[in-house]
Amino acid sequence: RESDRAAVRRVLLPSPRSFCAGVERAIEIVERLLEQHGPPVYVRNQIVHNAHVVAGLEAKGAVFVSELDEVPEHALVVFSAHGVAPAVEAEAARRGLDAVDATCPLVAKVHAEAKRAADAGDTVILIGHDGHEEVAGTLGVAPGRTVLVETVEGVAEVRVADREKVTYLSQTTLSVSEVEEIAAALRARFPNIRGQGAEDICYATSNRQAAVAAVVDEADLVLVVGSANSSNSNRLVELAAAAGVEAHLIEDAAAIDPAWLDAAGTVAVTAGASAPPVLVDEVVAAIAAAGPIEVVERRVADEPQEFLLPQRLRTHDAPAP
Ligand code: SF4
Repeated sequence: RESDRAAVRRVLLPSPRSFCAGVERAIEIVERLLEQHGPPVYVRNQIVHNAHVVAGLEAKGAVFVSELDEVPEHALVVFSAHGVAPAVEAEAARRGLDAVDATCPLVAKVHAEAKRAADAGDTVILIGHDGHEEVAGTLGVAPGRTVLVETVEGVAEVRVADREKVTYLSQTTLSVSEVEEIAAALRARFPNIRGQGAEDICYATSNRQAAVAAVVDEADLVLVVGSANSSNSNRLVELAAAAGVEAHLIEDAAAIDPAWLDAAGTVAVTAGASAPPVLVDEVVAAIAAAGPIEVVERRVADEPQEFLLPQRLRTHDAPAP
């Protein structure tokens, strides 16, 4: 109807969304190294799970590799924000590589917890998704003492050496509600297990989930900007879909199917922690191109977090400690 076509579409912008402090730090590490040393700067794995970020850094001279043996001896190599197993650090040292660690401090914190628990003789149960790079790194902290659990059903399969000496941890970018369910199942099976519920999930992941949860009931459509391999972005899509709302993960504005907008009077647009804010702006512009819009920001939390760069890259304009 003519009146529908003229109606103003509401675009809700849940906040926080898009880049987190760990992703900004990781990108800045590669950029500063490129400035200081010139290309090539090798990066093991995608620095963050976003195709646009990776392509942008490649254009400036970063070279992404999946294994250290692709890096020439003595070259500069950056470890991605997802963290690496100690064996990878040892391999870099053995090959004489100049390694710079862009592991997010919140992933490093989970590694430290895994080490502390394993050193105390506990079996470490890691809640996480098999195959994710962060999980590969955390499993590698105490390889003989760590087991992975992915689902509530998987808890029944877990084998531990001593039921009284068990600690659980989680990947930082999971669904808060799913981790709480798995943690509850672990506590039921191992009453003396140590762990802190969903506390290992980072602030950025939990804030982005809370922000989507706060608007999803008003939305006819939820668009999440992020790459297919971005864990926290996928969790945002699942959260919206679980609330019964049509939700899509999109790499950028070009991925929008115009048919999605036809019946969507209210569209929520968010982005995973690895997706650049400009991509959200472009999605909003694409929606505006389909008809008049009213943009409403919905903030559920502030994010003052900033993480210090590694010592060798700090300058006067680095964030204050
Ligand atoms: Fe760190 Fe969380 Fe950002 Fe990952 S999503 S880089 S753990 S702050």
